[in-house]
Amino acid sequence: MIDLHPVINNQDLPQFFKQHILKRIEEQNGQYGLAWRLIQRYRKGCYCLAKKADGKLCLNSAKIPGDRPSGRCGWHGGTGISGPKTVAGRKRISDAQRMRWERYRLEKRNYAIVADNLLS
Ligand SMILES: [Zn+2]
Repeated sequence: MIDLHPVINNQDLPQFFKQHILKRIEEQNGQYGLAWRLIQRYRKGCYCLAKKADGKLCLNSAKIPGDRPSGRCGWHGGTGISGPKTVAGRKRISDAQRMRWERYRLEKRNYAIVADNLLS
């Protein structure tokens, strides 16, 4: 079961969200309209919080498709009911995916070295 309330469980997050919300209110010239949805999302604590490629956290709403709780937004695996269900299964795919990214980064680094050698 994925915990849908990461805000309560992570002491660093409330400050982070407060800054995020205040920034949005400022952007809207002090209007709460847009920030209101963010505040609701904050109170419910159902942020996606996937780590994006740029290192920032994803602040979209986490979805709950069907009767299966999901702690991620639509872009980060929140939709759909397929995929691993058990803790062991989830660990297996997360490890595999981490390996894939690691391999990709290594390859990219190797290409950079080859390119450097060719140019120098
Ligand atoms: Zn997301």
